[in-house]
Amino acid sequence: MENKVIIVTGASNGIGKEIAKTLSKNNNIVIANYNKSEKEAKELQEELQKEGKKLEIFKADVSKEEECKKMVEYTIKKYKKIDVLINNAGITKNQLITDVTKKDWDEIINTNLYSAFCMSKEVTPNMVHNKKGCIINISSIWGQIGASMEVVYSISKAGMDGLTKSLAKELGPSNIRVNSIAPGIINTKMNSEYTKQELEQIKQEIPLERIGQPTDIARCINWLIDDEYTTGQVLAINGGWSMI
Ligand code: NAP
Repeated sequence: MENKVIIVTGASNGIGKEIAKTLSKNNNIVIANYNKSEKEAKELQEELQKEGKKLEIFKADVSKEEECKKMVEYTIKKYKKIDVLINNAGITKNQLITDVTKKDWDEIINTNLYSAFCMSKEVTPNMVHNKKGCIINISSIWGQIGASMEVVYSISKAGMDGLTKSLAKELGPSNIRVNSIAPGIINTKMNSEYTKQELEQIKQEIPLERIGQPTDIARCINWLIDDEYTTGQVLAINGGWSMI
């Protein structure tokens, strides 16, 4: 099978790192983006290179349009095509709405939502030209059902699902599929503020009785890339925690 060229944003940690690893092990050419965690990104690259796999790391702050542009231009110049874009980079902040500043708003919206918009906009001409492509947005259960004390995060993730649906309609005629994966709670450092007790409590609310692992999301990504008839959907990978 032909090697796919795949950009994964925020691939230095957590879910993005696992996605990049899985896709690289499946012999795709992966551009693993990072921003602050250079050490982790380099370790990931070394690990995969030892196995003879192709993974490039690319530093870019995806909350900034010009840095998104540079990463896409680099990829197209070198590989001539982008088959898959995975908008995974994200941040959150636990705070009451009354404590949210304009700076908080800008940071969260730009990192989670504006980045997905910019990256999608940049890859679109190449995908349209090739008459194929796949864009996957990692949104969240909180974008679907809302999270107390994470208002801006929830807005950003609901926005990603809006991006998914509108872009799926706009790009479907060019054979480009656009979907969201909305994880429930996944074991990464993003959830490091939860106590053991809180995690136990959450587990009891989940029909599959466990917290998700990054591999649960990577598995779904693999399927979605291979699939040919799913577009405009929000896939809730949450162990049954929420069913809407
Ligand atoms: P994580 O372990 O904190 O990793 C976040 C990643 O995003 C890091 O690799 C980080 O890279 C990158 N990132 C942050 N800001 C960036 C920027 N401006 N430019 C480029 N990269 C940036 O979090 P995670 O749990 O894996 O989350 C991954 C995605 O899944 C996020 O979008 C998150 O909202 C979503 N999600 C997570 C959960 C969960 O329970 N964990 C649930 C639902 C949805 P650097 O460290 O290099 O800056």
